[in-house]
Amino acid sequence: MIDAREQRVLDLIDANHQEVIDFLRELLAFKTVTPSSESVEHDEFIRHQAFIKEILTELGFQEIDVWEADAAKLDAPPGSGVDKSRDLRNMPILVGRLPGAGEDRSLILNGHYDVVPPGLLGSWTHDPFGGEVVDGKIYGRGSNDMKGGIAAMLKALEFIGRAGLALEGDILAQIVPDEEASCMGTLAACQRGYTADAAIIPEPTNMRVGTAVRGSMGGRVTVFGRAGHAEQPQPHWQEGGAVNAISKAMRVLEGMAEATEQWHTQPDKQHPLVPPDHIIPTVIHGGDWSVTIPEKVEIEFDCMFVPGTKDKRAEIEEKLDAVAANDPWLRENPPELDLGGPEGWIYPAEVSEDEPIVQTALQALADVGIQPELMGFGSLTDCVHLINHSQIPTINLGADIESAHSADEFVTIEQLIDLTKTIALSIMRWSGVRESADA
Ligand SMILES: [Zn+2]
Repeated sequence: MIDAREQRVLDLIDANHQEVIDFLRELLAFKTVTPSSESVEHDEFIRHQAFIKEILTELGFQEIDVWEADAAKLDAPPGSGVDKSRDLRNMPILVGRLPGAGEDRSLILNGHYDVVPPGLLGSWTHDPFGGEVVDGKIYGRGSNDMKGGIAAMLKALEFIGRAGLALEGDILAQIVPDEEASCMGTLAACQRGYTADAAIIPEPTNMRVGTAVRGSMGGRVTVFGRAGHAEQPQPHWQEGGAVNAISKAMRVLEGMAEATEQWHTQPDKQHPLVPPDHIIPTVIHGGDWSVTIPEKVEIEFDCMFVPGTKDKRAEIEEKLDAVAANDPWLRENPPELDLGGPEGWIYPAEVSEDEPIVQTALQALADVGIQPELMGFGSLTDCVHLINHSQIPTINLGADIESAHSADEFVTIEQLIDLTKTIALSIMRWSGVRESADA
C-alpha cells in the first residue's frame, strides 16, 4: 500500500518525467568507456565524477569522498579477482553520504559509471553518446547498463527531498568505475570501510529483484607435445617420436565439453535462479610453423559457477586429471592449468529471499504495478564484493537487460520512470521518512 507521503513523491516523479530523461542524457554524454588493458589518458571519467559531486552536493550529501584506487595496494583475498597490474588512474571512485535525520537503517545505492565500448559505429543507428530519444526510448551506450540506473537512483533521492521529506537513515551513494573490467571500483570502496545495512544496485534485471550471481574463473590450459618434422616419418613417441600438441589439445577440449554437460544435470549445480556451471574454450593458440609438428597449444577458457561451489579450481583440476589419465602421453606430460594466481577468479554471491531489503523491493515493485519476481544473473555484478567482502545484503534491480552491451542500447522511458518510482519507494521504506524541518 502506498501511503500519502509516498504518493507525493510518486506524483512528483510523474509530473517531471522530462527531468529524469534530461539527467540521463547528461550522463550519457560523458564517454566513460572502460579501457581493456591500456590506461585512461583523457578526463571524461574525472569530469563525470565532478558533475556527480555537484549533483550530490545540491542534494545535501556531505563527506563526498573522491579518490583513485591503486590496484597494487588493494587486498587480494581469494575470490576478489584483484588484478594488481591494472591501471586505475584517471578513473575516480566517488562515495558520498547523505546523513539521515534519525537513526534508522542505512542504505548504499551503488552504480558503475563505466560503459563497454560502443563497438562498430556502423551498427548503430543512433549516436552512442548522443542520448537520442525516439519513440519512447532513450538511446546510448550505458543508457541501460547502467547510467539509467544511476539517473533513477539519484533522481529518486531528489524527488523525496522535493516532496518535503527527510530520510531517517543514512544514504551512501557509490558511483564507481571499472565494473565492466575488474569490479575493483566497488571493491576499493568496500576496502575503504564504507558499509551500510543493505545495498541496491540498479543494474538491468528486467524489473525483477536480482538476488544471485554466478562466480567467474578465467584461465589457461597449456597442452604440450613434442616438435618434429611434419613431413618425415616419426617413431613412436616412447622412442622419441614427435607428438602433436593440437591432437592432444582435442582431448582437453572434449573434456571441457563433457564437464559442462555433466554440470548441467549434476544435482549440486542446480540453482533456482542461475544456470549451472560451464567451462567454455574462448581463445586458442597452437603451433608455430606449417611443417613442424606443434609442441604447444594454449587454450583460454571462461568458467562460471553457481553459488555454493566450494572449490572450482579443484573441480577443473580433477577434470584435467581424468583427461590425462586416459592418454599415455598426457599421463607423463600433464596439461598445465594457470588461473593467474590464487586471486584470479571472482566469487559468486546470493542473498536470501527472506532478507528485508529483498522483501522491501518486491513490495515496491508490486506497488508500482509490476509483477514482483526474483531473478539471477548468469554473469556477475559488483554485488559480489558488497555481499562477500562487506557482508551487506545487496540486490540488483533495474530495467530490461536485452540491449545491454549491444548496438543501439536503450532504456524505455516507461521503465526508467517505473525504476525511479520503485527505488524511491524502496529507499523511503528502508530508511524511514519524516516531514523535513525546512519544508
Ligand atoms: Zn552493468
